[in-house]
Amino acid sequence: MMATFGLLIAALAAYWVYNDAKGRGHETGTALLWSVGTLAALVVFLPLYLLLGRKRPMKPRRNDDIIDIEAVPVEEMIKCPMCASNVKEDFKACPYCGFALKPACTSCGKELKREWRLCPYCQTPTDLK
Ligand SMILES: [Zn+2]
Ligand SMILES: [Zn+2]
Repeated sequence: MMATFGLLIAALAAYWVYNDAKGRGHETGTALLWSVGTLAALVVFLPLYLLLGRKRPMKPRRNDDIIDIEAVPVEEMIKCPMCASNVKEDFKACPYCGFALKPACTSCGKELKREWRLCPYCQTPTDLK
């Protein structure tokens, strides 16, 4: 009776450890290792996991500088005239095909109109597609 009960506790603990480790961004293999360890030797692995395994931060920090194109509201999207991909209205170039949506002078950086053949500010010829 006691053995069955102990096994149940160990199984529950192992299950919890596995999910907790996964939630903390551990690899499946690592989480499984902790879980199997807990199942095999609860008194050793559970305190060990609590001490060592949980040190990692909950989730890897998201890089907010990278724009998630899927998350951009539709009204801010335009279609790239070259490849018809969805691009943000304030993009300077299409990230998919490299088409210059808002071409800028390579010399002085001023915004150019697509039909201009040279920059009116510094006379640098534009080499737009
Ligand atoms: Zn494009
Ligand atoms: Zn210029």
